[in-house]
Amino acid sequence: MNRKKASAEILHTSNLLPTSYDSMPPAERSEWVVAALSVLGERPPASNTHRRKSTKPGVKTEKKLNILDTEASSLATVRPKASTALRKLGARTVGHLIYLFPRRHNEVVKISALSPGEDQTIVASLWEARPTQLGRSLKGTEAVFGDETGNIRIVWFNQPYLVRYFKPGRRYVLSGRISIFRGHRTMDSPSYEELTEGTALEKLVEHGHLFPIYPLTEGITQQTMRKIVREALSKAVPHAKELMPSEILQRNRLIALKKALWQAHYPDNIDAYETARRRLAFDELFVLLLRVLYFRTKSDLAESSISLFPPEGVLETFISSLPFELTNAQKRVLEEVTQDLISSKKPMSRLIQGDVGSGKTVIALAALVTAATSGFQSAIMAPTEILAEQHFLTVTSLLQGLAEPGIKQHLISIRLHPYPKPILIGLLLGNTPAKAKRELQAMLSEGTLDIVIGTHAVIQENVSIPNLSLAIVDEQHRFGVKQRAALREHGKQPHMLVMSATPIPRTLTLTLYGDLDLSTLDELPPGRQVIRTKVVGPERRSSVYDFVRREIASGKQAFFIYPLIDESDSINARATIKEHYRLSTDIFPDLQIGLLHGRMPTSEKKDVMDRFRSGELNILVSTAVVEVGIDVSNATVMLIESADRFGLAQLHQFRGRVGRGSQTSYCILIAESPSEDAKERLLAMEKIADGFELAEVDLQLRGPGDYFGTRQSGLPNLRMARLADTNLLSLARE
Ligand code: ADP
Ligand code: MG
Repeated sequence: MNRKKASAEILHTSNLLPTSYDSMPPAERSEWVVAALSVLGERPPASNTHRRKSTKPGVKTEKKLNILDTEASSLATVRPKASTALRKLGARTVGHLIYLFPRRHNEVVKISALSPGEDQTIVASLWEARPTQLGRSLKGTEAVFGDETGNIRIVWFNQPYLVRYFKPGRRYVLSGRISIFRGHRTMDSPSYEELTEGTALEKLVEHGHLFPIYPLTEGITQQTMRKIVREALSKAVPHAKELMPSEILQRNRLIALKKALWQAHYPDNIDAYETARRRLAFDELFVLLLRVLYFRTKSDLAESSISLFPPEGVLETFISSLPFELTNAQKRVLEEVTQDLISSKKPMSRLIQGDVGSGKTVIALAALVTAATSGFQSAIMAPTEILAEQHFLTVTSLLQGLAEPGIKQHLISIRLHPYPKPILIGLLLGNTPAKAKRELQAMLSEGTLDIVIGTHAVIQENVSIPNLSLAIVDEQHRFGVKQRAALREHGKQPHMLVMSATPIPRTLTLTLYGDLDLSTLDELPPGRQVIRTKVVGPERRSSVYDFVRREIASGKQAFFIYPLIDESDSINARATIKEHYRLSTDIFPDLQIGLLHGRMPTSEKKDVMDRFRSGELNILVSTAVVEVGIDVSNATVMLIESADRFGLAQLHQFRGRVGRGSQTSYCILIAESPSEDAKERLLAMEKIADGFELAEVDLQLRGPGDYFGTRQSGLPNLRMARLADTNLLSLARE
């Protein structure tokens, strides 16, 4: 089936409806349309005649809120402090809470079978609990629990009040890390919950012996989280609406939503969990595909576009001015792009996928000069100021042979024979000096600036570009289908080109970028060397430092990526500041070490980057949150601490920052105590140089997990679906 037809059919409303639209009363119809639009991420139309009739002016209609939409703080178990923490976890409403799935489940273990180092759960009766004095001022609670296989002594530091909570003879669920204290097994400050007879928890335990372990954040404990989610489940699940028609459920052997929601949290057994996960993952993929195909259809239906047709000879001038030959892959992709640009049938919507260093910028630049010499304006947008600036530098150096002399810091001018006029290219950033900024903005809105390079924010929000015919997004995987669609609506349906270095498997590309045509740069420019990659333990750190020192002595530079401790910027910044201090005082007091983290003002970031680029700094210490998307050919070492905390895609991105020149380059991955899985993933980095191959390997190695690294990836929030769910994906697509 061709794609157009498939998307049209999926969008055919009757496929989505439990009953037919025609048979619905008007009120239900409008409700359905609003719901369907919100699934697609669209706003409902502003005016609603139907509602207007029933509303007196100035009187707000009190619409009864569905329990799913009420604030999480309305639950009895949610205290104010917890509600802040829940927000951080993305759970503002009760509905969000039932979709806040456990990170994993712990099976209940007998006391005699506990194994040190693991995070485990027991169900045990309390023998006794008493206050304990630990040191001069530290008070705690000491308790002994037992099951039919043995006893365990547990100490909670700093929590003397627990003495009053625990009652001898009662049963409790305890989860925590097992360690050895004075030769005996113990649990380190475990989470605790009483197993009272007749309660929801007790009934759940009767069935399964799998306990949910939830993601946590500051201000909320595991036991509080469990209580909150249980309350949310019992109040909200009965009101959860089944969106899928029963026909789809039956055909794909999917269980009912209500059952799936309970079982995802408190499964009867592992199989039941998998069945629940499968159902919920199907929903996620289904909605994701629906959105992608919806936008695809919208752009397919676009009436026309601007035909960008440069004067003959212009592109040849550009290509022959480059300091290198295009690779065959670049030639092919450039041809695909220019074909799209010439066509006046519909605007281009194309993704260029190519590994780090495959030379995407040249293609982008060729498209930009095509637009300029066809008499139109165009823009290229990067996600951060540093990256935008990097683009400007790259573009400036690629265009060296064509540049006109005597130009400003934010503006260059080139000549492209036989195009009669000079072409102006400007760099527009948030921190561009006010005068230059006003000048650039004026030139843009008058149509005299041909090409603008900047960040998404600056270009999209503050500027009018009347003759915009082409928008290029260097997405660094942060630009979702929604944003792409918004961009398409800018001005007169500009052509759009998205560039991505995220090496994702093809099945997934079709899903995430189903609204775009795909071009692949599957070849690196000649002469690129393989970056020597090594995974080492912390005990080798000092010899790694010696190695770095030798590289620097021979004039090279190094990146130190300092670790991803938390999703929080400020925590990561703090860790990096500390590490920067240690390196500059203890390890390399004689070297120049720069620091880069997300909490720094942009001007400071820029200053550090400039100093690293110019070679003044020997080492750049950076958090992972800051894109080190820079091209410093003199940098030969990429050292990544806590490497096991990153996804392979991210590690590969970091690695791509070295080896940009002709010198042998190295990537050193340090991991403190990686799990077996993590070790295997890291070793794949040693063996495999190709990003796409790495992606496939990762797909096979991982069950649940986060190939893309953290949230910043901007990919849709798939809680239950996994990259390996390719079967489910094709079912959803069907
Ligand atoms: P990416 O695809 O990661 O954005 P870039 O466009 O930044 O890659 O290119 C990486 C480097 O390779 C740049 O320094 C660029 O000038 C250079 N380059 C691009 N194409 C070629 C080529 N065909 N031959 C040699 N070098 C090239
Ligand atoms: Mg790039």
